[in-house]
Amino acid sequence: MSKLLVIAEGRDGALRNVSFEAVAAAKAIHADAEIVGIVLGKENLEEQAQELIYYGADRVVTIAHEKLENYTSEGYGQAVLTVINDESPDGIVMGHTSIGKDLTPKLATKLDTGLVSDVVAIETNGDRVEYVRPIYSGKAFEKKIITDGLTFVTIRPNNIAKLERDEARTGDITAKEVEVADIRTVIKDVVRKASEGVDLSEASVVIAGGRGVKSAEGFDILYELADVLGGAVGASRGACDAEYCDYSLQIGQTGKVVTPDLYIAVGISGAIQHLAGMSNSKVIVAINKDPEANIFNIADYGIVGDLFEVIPLLIEEIKTV
Ligand code: FAD
Repeated sequence: MSKLLVIAEGRDGALRNVSFEAVAAAKAIHADAEIVGIVLGKENLEEQAQELIYYGADRVVTIAHEKLENYTSEGYGQAVLTVINDESPDGIVMGHTSIGKDLTPKLATKLDTGLVSDVVAIETNGDRVEYVRPIYSGKAFEKKIITDGLTFVTIRPNNIAKLERDEARTGDITAKEVEVADIRTVIKDVVRKASEGVDLSEASVVIAGGRGVKSAEGFDILYELADVLGGAVGASRGACDAEYCDYSLQIGQTGKVVTPDLYIAVGISGAIQHLAGMSNSKVIVAINKDPEANIFNIADYGIVGDLFEVIPLLIEEIKTV
């Protein structure tokens, strides 16, 4: 029986959605494989491990250690490597998040093995598993196949649907003691710049503001719209450069890549570098006063108008629904 490891990722005491999506991805890679989750952190990991089982993991290894309170590639690397050595899996799946992007290439190099990154779909063609990933900033897709040996796979958040949560599912949770050698990187404090609300890279609704929003205060109505829609606020680099918002909100080639169900681009022209971070969103709505703006070329719905008139009307309308 083959075995796939899923490296789960937590934040503020709960697992991130992409961890459950990674379990679904592992099932898509090999429906009959044993799926073993790894949950890391400082303490109290059982509840997170249980959630992973409800979402499809067969069993979970938890590693609680004070040096794992915050992510460092050294600390997490050592801990995950111990589990890989113990379990000898056939493959390892993780989210294509900042942590996944940092950890998996390092581990793959250490183990002298491969990595298929930023996978948005897993397809089967006969016996062959094909990993679909965007290339050229999302303008095309390629299919990769793994021909040999252990390989890491990272999946882009919000693309592979998690399985139904099933509280009837059971599985072993093993607390593993791991020696974590001295870590040279010491995290003194974590300062969260982005909104405390919905996580931008996992949000199903994103309201992104551009230079057309004109000021930091202008972003207030975007937050209001995000609130009524249960979404997160993002931005173009134009808006970040103009200091209307923090760079942690930047979406695009040099920012975050998002794939929400609904992306509302507000006062954003649609530069190619911005499209690279959002063009795979399921439904794109653009609000721009320039009918020639490039963003309308990829939008499913376009509103030509002044955002300061359109957004308040939209908020009012949505509130009455
Ligand atoms: P603008 O292009 O200035 O567009 C503003 C828009 O607002 C216009 O279309 C205007 O019609 C509209 N507008 C103005 N007032 C209103 C109003 N009242 N109501 C409605 N609409 C209004 N950009 C990114 O976004 N992400 C990246 O990751 C990124 N990476 C880059 C990497 C490199 C190497 C380079 C060279 C550039 C990168 N850029 C990136 C920058 C990118 O090229 C654009 O400059 C940037 O996206 C423009 O931001 P914008 O659309 O907000 O501003």
